[in-house]
Amino acid sequence: MIAKSMVDYVKGSSVIRAMFEEGKNMAKKYGAENVYDFSLGNPSVEPPKQVKEAMIDVLQNEEPNLVHGYMNNSGYEDVREAIANSLNGRFGTVFGAGNIIMTVGAAGGLNVILKTLLDPGDEVVVFAPFFGEYSNYVKNYGGVLKVVPPSDNFIPDPVEFGKTISDKTKAVIINNPNNPTGVVYSEEDIIRLADVLREKEKEYGKAIYLIADEPYRELVYDGLDVPYLTKYYDDTIVGYSYSKSLSLPGERIGYLVIPNEADDFENVVQAANVANRILGFVNAPSLIQRAVAKCLDAEVDVEAYNRNRELLYNGLTELGFECIKPQGAFYMYVKALGGDDKAFVSKAKEFNLLLVPGSTFFGPGYIRIAYCVDHDMIKRSMGAFKKLAEAYK
Ligand code: PLP
Repeated sequence: MIAKSMVDYVKGSSVIRAMFEEGKNMAKKYGAENVYDFSLGNPSVEPPKQVKEAMIDVLQNEEPNLVHGYMNNSGYEDVREAIANSLNGRFGTVFGAGNIIMTVGAAGGLNVILKTLLDPGDEVVVFAPFFGEYSNYVKNYGGVLKVVPPSDNFIPDPVEFGKTISDKTKAVIINNPNNPTGVVYSEEDIIRLADVLREKEKEYGKAIYLIADEPYRELVYDGLDVPYLTKYYDDTIVGYSYSKSLSLPGERIGYLVIPNEADDFENVVQAANVANRILGFVNAPSLIQRAVAKCLDAEVDVEAYNRNRELLYNGLTELGFECIKPQGAFYMYVKALGGDDKAFVSKAKEFNLLLVPGSTFFGPGYIRIAYCVDHDMIKRSMGAFKKLAEAYK
C-alpha cells in the first residue's frame, strides 16, 4: 500500500499523463499531422552541435576514471571553476568554484536548496501563475506555499508581495523568464522586489532567501536583458539548468550559485552538498558535467523559437484571442474564452488542440500554449484555433 501522502500526487500527475495518452490516441485516430499538441515544454530545437562533439571528446580523450567515478557531492572542481569564470565574464560577478554546486537539473537544484533551508512550517512565497511543481517541492520538506496573486501584466506587484511575507517566510521563488506567462521581469521590477525583501528582513530580523529559478535565462527575444539577481540582493541563490538553454532536459544537468554574501554562506554550502547526497542524487551526472563545461558559450537556435512566437502571436491575436506577447521562454499565456480554463481546454480538444489549463499553474482563466514545437504544426493549427474561436461567438 502506498503512503497516504502520495495518493493526491498520483491523482494530480495522472491528469498530465491522461493528456499525454489522449494525444497519442488522437494521433492514431486522426493522423499525427492533424493533432496539435502544445502541452509539453520539451525543447523542439536540437542541442548545439558542440554538445555532441564535447561528449565524444570527453569519452575519447579524458581519463576514464575521471569521467565515470564518484566525486565531491558538489561536482567536479574544474567544471565549477569554468562555470564561475563564465558567469563572472558575463555578469561582472566574482564567483569561484566554491560558489557553485552542480545539480540534477533545475528540479534537483530546487529540491537541494529547499531541503537545505526549510524547517517544517517555514513559508515559501511564489508569484502566481507559477510552475506547479514548486508546490510539490515545497511540500517535500514540510514547507508552506504562500502565493502572491497575479497582477494584470503578470509583473510581480511589490505591495501584494510585501503583504504575503510574514515572520515565517524563509524563501521566495522567482522565475525569470517566466513559465507559464513568457514575461521577463526588468531591472526596475527586480529592484522593487529587492527593496521589499530588505525591508522585511529588517522588520523580522532574519534572512529571507530569494531563489532565482532560471532555466529559461538564455531564451529571450527582442534583445532584452535578464537581470542577474545576486547583484541586487545579497541573500540570492540562483538555480540554473541546461535543459532548455542547450536543449538537454533528459541529461539532467544544472547548478546552484550560492554567493559569499548570502546569509550563513558556509553552512548553506555545506548543507546543500549534504542535501545533494542524501536526496539520493549524490552528484550531478559526470559525463554531461564535463561536456557542458566545454560548451559554456554554445547557444541553441533561439531564432527558431522566435519565429514560432511571431507566427502564433500574430495568428492568435488576429483571431481575437487576448494575450501578452511573450518576451522569453517558449510559452504563451492566453485568456480562456468563456473564462473557464478547464472547459476551454476540453472544447479545444474537440478541434484536436492540446493546451494546458492555467489552473495547473495556479492561474485560472488562462491557458498555456507551449510553442517549442514544429513551425509547420503551428501553421496547420491555425484553422483549428479559428474554429475554436468561432465556437465561442
Ligand atoms: N523550473 C521551471 C520554471 C521549469 O519550467 C522547469 C521545467 O520545465 C524546471 C524548473 C525544471 O527544469 P529541469 O529540467 O532543469 O529540472
